[in-house]
Amino acid sequence: MKAIQLITCGTPGKFELRELPEPQPGSGEVIVEVKACGLNHLDLWLESGGLPMPVPLPRTPGCEVAGVVCAVGAGVGEWKLGDAVAVQSNLFCGECEFCQRGDESLCLRGELLGIGRDGGFADRVMVPARVLLRLPAGVDFATSAALTLAGSTAMHMLTNRAQIRAGDWVLAIGGASGVGSAAIQIAKQLGARVISTGSTEAKRRLAKDLGAEFVVDVTQTHWPVEVRKLTNKRGVDVIVEHVGGDVLPKCFDCLARGGTIVTCGATAGRDVALNLWPIFVKEQRLIGSYGRNRADFRATLDWAAAGKLKPVIDACFPLDQTPAAFVKLRSRTVLGKVLIKP
Ligand SMILES: [Zn+2]
Repeated sequence: MKAIQLITCGTPGKFELRELPEPQPGSGEVIVEVKACGLNHLDLWLESGGLPMPVPLPRTPGCEVAGVVCAVGAGVGEWKLGDAVAVQSNLFCGECEFCQRGDESLCLRGELLGIGRDGGFADRVMVPARVLLRLPAGVDFATSAALTLAGSTAMHMLTNRAQIRAGDWVLAIGGASGVGSAAIQIAKQLGARVISTGSTEAKRRLAKDLGAEFVVDVTQTHWPVEVRKLTNKRGVDVIVEHVGGDVLPKCFDCLARGGTIVTCGATAGRDVALNLWPIFVKEQRLIGSYGRNRADFRATLDWAAAGKLKPVIDACFPLDQTPAAFVKLRSRTVLGKVLIKP
């Protein structure tokens, strides 16, 4: 089978389209024929060597897989050939204390598809059967591959890590990103009033189209002042943050008393200096969020089937053009998602 492999880390990294032996499913494993696979910042971190753990190379990236079951290993009873499935990228053991209570995002033996083992920028991928979900009627492969990672991350942030009450003000950072575009839609469905941010006119227009009531221009240094003005100086109740760097401290300037920032990433930097005084005086919270639970993954697909959550797809690339897709995502001009279709 064909696979795109990262040979050497860098910006850009060195990729090769390689012919690899067909994967043979072990006990409890399935082989999925990849129909579409989303590209994510996780892939860019892998490419640049920016992950905080060692990754043996060569490695086939690709963590957001939708496809068709094409082989099953021993002991796999629930899946048969031809089933259309989505693959949960945070592979979990299903047995540790956290998995037992439904917190697969905290699995003690968790592994990331496309990082810890070969992923979906290939004709076929091997994963444990337990991480599959059946694609609901009306959800096609591209929709699944554009929603199941970033969309379920936003679902986890807004329905598990933070809770939203109808009428809350929610600030979704980066409304044209995978997480941001899903967060706008989810918060809106939960009855929130949504403000978003964007660095270009096209990104701000997309955030509006997705349901943001107001969108502020983050290239203006006073953008947190804008957010406070829009909320009558009160500030917002919940902020969906995934940028880090100098954006996170500015988010605290936008946050109401008793408000919550939930963060799932740090694409602009992981080391952040915070002034703790206003945080404890205003009883604010900063909550981490990592991946998703099974329940979030299922909810994301169910919401997509119900038309409550729509993917935003910027571009689709064939497998052999995967390096160009990495360049496009890194260019920060992407509106929504970039997909690879082997
Ligand atoms: Zn576990």
